[in-house]
Amino acid sequence: MFLDQTYLFTPGPTPIPNRVNAAMAQPMIGHRSPDFSVLIEDVATRLKPVFGTKHPVYALTSSGTSALEAAVVNSVTEGDHAVVIVAGSFGDRLASIAENYGVNVERLNIEWGKSCSPEQLEEFLNGLSGAPIKAVFATFNETSTGVLNPIGALGEVVRRLTDALFIVDGVSCIGGVPVDMEADHIDILVTSSQKALMLPPGLAFVAFSDKGLDAIKNCPTKRFYLDLNRYVKAYNEQKSTPFTPAVSLIAGAREVCAMIEEEGWENVIRRHNLLRDMMRAGIRELGLPLLTSDADASPTVTAVKPDALSAPDIQKALKKDFSITIAGGQKDLKGKIFRIGHMGYCTPFDVIKVLTALELTLVKFGQEPRFGAAVRKAEEVWSQNV
Ligand SMILES: *Cc1c(COP(=O)(O)O)cnc(C)c1O
Repeated sequence: MFLDQTYLFTPGPTPIPNRVNAAMAQPMIGHRSPDFSVLIEDVATRLKPVFGTKHPVYALTSSGTSALEAAVVNSVTEGDHAVVIVAGSFGDRLASIAENYGVNVERLNIEWGKSCSPEQLEEFLNGLSGAPIKAVFATFNETSTGVLNPIGALGEVVRRLTDALFIVDGVSCIGGVPVDMEADHIDILVTSSQKALMLPPGLAFVAFSDKGLDAIKNCPTKRFYLDLNRYVKAYNEQKSTPFTPAVSLIAGAREVCAMIEEEGWENVIRRHNLLRDMMRAGIRELGLPLLTSDADASPTVTAVKPDALSAPDIQKALKKDFSITIAGGQKDLKGKIFRIGHMGYCTPFDVIKVLTALELTLVKFGQEPRFGAAVRKAEEVWSQNV
């Protein structure tokens, strides 16, 4: 087949729309120029609804993990006590970052493949004794398991039981799910460019509440590149960034804002829910077990645990026969699951592509042919939404 027709279904990086690529290929501008000031203000402002914030959204030139690290070093310091909800490998990463900075981390471990319920968090917080908790960290969408945590309900528990900051890793869902930082009681919310925001890797985004900004101002942890105060100051005083940013990616982000506005933010959210529902209906029809329950299922990534078949073999066959790239499992789930990303620049037709390829692939692994079965189920779900 055509070597240039490849299909990227990893939960980051994700496909880039042509018009975003075109926007990124425009002539370079200096980051201290008036043109850049217009650009950064535009992006910081137009991303507000996507982050559910009234404040500007700040861009850092670095990957998502830098945003997690920024969230840690701007909120807590050595000796502080913090809770980290760990429901998969990204929660584990967040906890590790905080531990590396000498924070006393209480890990709330959740079975991988399940969400953290507000009741579990409430019981955990009530069971803690000793020093007050400075911050509660949560992963909004646990990419390693395909679970969306009920972030507003968790935020409500944090606000009701503690004075702690509520800090959220939104990396694989911001841009695809609704969020309201005020209503959800989120003080710092971060994401990166290469997931639901339809951009190449290289940018991280940070939004915060008034309480979050206060914490950032007063946090004594030593930091330089990731000192968010520098980004706030550069934005407020010069409409710029403290260091040379990935200008092209920021130009791409402006085009992403335009695309989200044209589709309508509500429709973007609806589309992601539809992609999830189509994918799950199709996979189920093929008799492949899903890792997560419907209630916990992420709108941006679906994890499949094909017990009777080898997940890595299916992943390899999709790549070899159809140029479809999906992801495998991480850490405890390595070799046991495969994950299909459906976020950002992804349509119902894309889901149909993957399901078609899966139908063909399963036959190769000895299953009875069920040609069209998964596609049909997915179309039934789609038909309710057109
Ligand atoms: C991808 C991802 C990250 C890490 O982002 P990098 O850009 O690889 O550093 C962090 N958290 C979650 C939930 C992710 O999905």
